[in-house]
Amino acid sequence: MKTVDYIIVGQGVAGSCMALQLLKNNKSFVVIDDNAHKASAIAAGIYNPVVLKRFAIVWNATYQIQLLKKVFTSFEQLLNQKYLYEFPVFRIFNDENEKKTWLKKSDREDLKDFLSKDFTQLDQYNNIKQPLGTGEVEQTGRVDLTNLLPDFKDYLIENELCLDESFDYQTLQILEDKVIYKDIEAKKIIFAEGFHIKQNPWFNQLPIIGVKGEVLRVKTEANLPEAVVKAKEFLMPLGDKEYFVGATYDRDNVNYETTVAAKENLVNGLNQFLSDEIEVIDQKASIRPTVSDRRPIIGTHPKYKNLVCLNGMGTRGTMLAPVMVEELYNHLENGTNLDQESDISRFYTLLNEEL
Ligand SMILES: Cc1cc2nc3c(=O)[nH]c(=O)nc-3n(C[C@H](O)[C@H](O)[C@H](O)COP(=O)(O)OP(=O)(O)OC[C@H]3O[C@@H](n4cnc5c(N)ncnc54)[C@H](O)[C@@H]3O)c2cc1C
Repeated sequence: MKTVDYIIVGQGVAGSCMALQLLKNNKSFVVIDDNAHKASAIAAGIYNPVVLKRFAIVWNATYQIQLLKKVFTSFEQLLNQKYLYEFPVFRIFNDENEKKTWLKKSDREDLKDFLSKDFTQLDQYNNIKQPLGTGEVEQTGRVDLTNLLPDFKDYLIENELCLDESFDYQTLQILEDKVIYKDIEAKKIIFAEGFHIKQNPWFNQLPIIGVKGEVLRVKTEANLPEAVVKAKEFLMPLGDKEYFVGATYDRDNVNYETTVAAKENLVNGLNQFLSDEIEVIDQKASIRPTVSDRRPIIGTHPKYKNLVCLNGMGTRGTMLAPVMVEELYNHLENGTNLDQESDISRFYTLLNEEL
């Protein structure tokens, strides 16, 4: 029997950040992950402190960005690869009202460090249609999760810290002070399965709402900035004239199939602001684990205190995972209180305590 402090189910951005936190703190653990429909692997990995629909600050943004940089720099040091890219996000204005709102908000204390007042920065790019100008969000960038996650999984497997297989919920034995899974005994088990939480018999009553997203990889010879450019859709450079285009939001057809309709929507959205030819070279779909009140869900099960939930990263897993992991770790190891906004106890009445 192998004895560890923790089992982690899921090696998306949430489970990976938790594994790194445990590594840093010399805790023993095993990750179990089957790579099935990992939302984090197809996400653009953009981090952006401003909600671009209404120019509002993201919850706890300054601290989230600070910790994100620290955590993903640690991954870079551990794996000896670059994953963190800092570049601006440009938002093309749709009408004069948006421009006025942006200007007004850029004077606010919480937004002034993030919203630039210079609307002319894309003027040199003749192929980008932006008759009303473009606002720049500062302190933004991207974490290349597409490469980081498989690299980290290889590292975990090499160090005998990961089982590349599906977790079988029926096999878990829950005892008073530990859990036993096959030949592994752990003090606690942390479930970080993203939208697959719906298969988890202890946590599937939580109000995780799947929002399907489709993305494209395109190629174009256009002269474009090293930045995210966003109108209805966004375009993000990947190198070698390739770009990431995203993303759709579909709450009605929650599955992993790519569709012609989504491809057309994305291409049409792109054509609204880009006058050059594009060639679509790939299309992918996955499901965002969002929550009814737009906050993550972390903490222990009301009845089984050694079952732990780390979920609900929604549309912003890159920024949220590092802070949620820090908070959850301190709660589990040092007994600190969870922030009420992310504390699972707000949904305890939904969890079937008789399981
Ligand atoms: C199209 C799209 C674009 C996005 N773009 C961005 C973006 O630019 N920036 C951003 O911050 N966020 C973005 N997101 C959101 C982000 O992807 C999610 O918030 C985040 O990936 C959720 O991470 P997670 O670790 O909770 O889940 P996941 O990444 O889904 O990982 C869960 C893992 O658990 C494993 N698993 C589940 N059940 C089991 C089991 N029983 N046994 C073994 N393994 C299991 C799965 O195989 C998977 O590997 C995007 C999402 C989508 C769909």
